[in-house]
Amino acid sequence: MINLYETGPFLRLTAKRHTAILRKIIHVDMDAFFASVEQRDNPDLRGKPVAVGGSAARGVVAAASYEARKFGLRSAMPSITAKRKCPDLIFVPPRFDVYRAVSQQIHAIFAEHTALIEPLSLDEAYLDVTDNLQGIPVATTIAEMIRAKIKRETGLTASAGISYNKFLAKMASGQNKPNGQFVITPKMGPAFVEALPVRKFHGVGPATAAKMARLGIETGADLRGQNLAFLKERFGKAGPYYYWIARGIDERPVRADRVRKSVGAEDTFAADIFDLESARNELAPLVGKVWRYCAERSIQGRTVTLKVKFADFQQITRSRTIGAVVAAETDLATVAGTLLEQVFPVSKGIRLLGVTLSNLSGSAAEADRQMSLVI
Ligand SMILES: [Mg+2]
Repeated sequence: MINLYETGPFLRLTAKRHTAILRKIIHVDMDAFFASVEQRDNPDLRGKPVAVGGSAARGVVAAASYEARKFGLRSAMPSITAKRKCPDLIFVPPRFDVYRAVSQQIHAIFAEHTALIEPLSLDEAYLDVTDNLQGIPVATTIAEMIRAKIKRETGLTASAGISYNKFLAKMASGQNKPNGQFVITPKMGPAFVEALPVRKFHGVGPATAAKMARLGIETGADLRGQNLAFLKERFGKAGPYYYWIARGIDERPVRADRVRKSVGAEDTFAADIFDLESARNELAPLVGKVWRYCAERSIQGRTVTLKVKFADFQQITRSRTIGAVVAAETDLATVAGTLLEQVFPVSKGIRLLGVTLSNLSGSAAEADRQMSLVI
């Protein structure tokens, strides 16, 4: 028989050790990535306000250089607004093949330290370096090594955040941007979050921030003052996430095998569309792209979503889930076409259409780590 009194202290010690094992997470984020690549490759652009994106009347800014940001530019801003804010702005068309190649270079640098890499986009990733391949004990050192090597190999700068969970690592990487890094230790975590405005929280978008403001929640401290039931009631599934991050707690693992949730394609048109016939013509190539992408990877899905953005930027989505997987391109076209018909007649022009297939199955869906299908 086991004597609990004898094993007791040992068990307690073990338990304590387990809770004391803190993860070491690094969030690496390239500085003004697309714009920096363009400035690297074209010396004429250096030191100047640059926007990557379409300069045409209907274009949007995909990325802005730091010189352009001083004028209040940010990504997703209509190009017209950007040009008004910064008359000397230079527009450069995006070169996604180049950005992808750089992304692969930085990924290879990450992989020298850990296999636990979770990309968020082409220029951002979480790394779990708790057990790292080179046995370096201090995560700050690893972040410095990674940033130095990125600079050496790509000529570009990156910033890094180091902390004990993903949320805080992400928040930390923005602290000393550009070309800097910042550590949030377990001791600093709760106070850091309390002082942070909720609109700056990763995972709190503008709509949620506005809703929180209406509820009197402006800072992390305000958020911390709300109980779990209240946050669940007001914010649904996101409620518990907000509850815990307000305490600096985020147990989400760094997932190397990020599961794809959807495949989508969309297009912004040169001129607004008002009639169903034109909309159908624009929808067809989008359906084709989504279908080809899925077919090549044996990805299947059951939910078709149509996205419509109007001239005034109002956006609506219409979805339909069918009993079995969408079996053929013509089926995808039929479902998407039916959803489109329901949007008509329209009282204002359509500037963008998108088609997405979700509710995915198939082994390739799980293995597919590409973040988004940019068309
Ligand atoms: Mg970035």
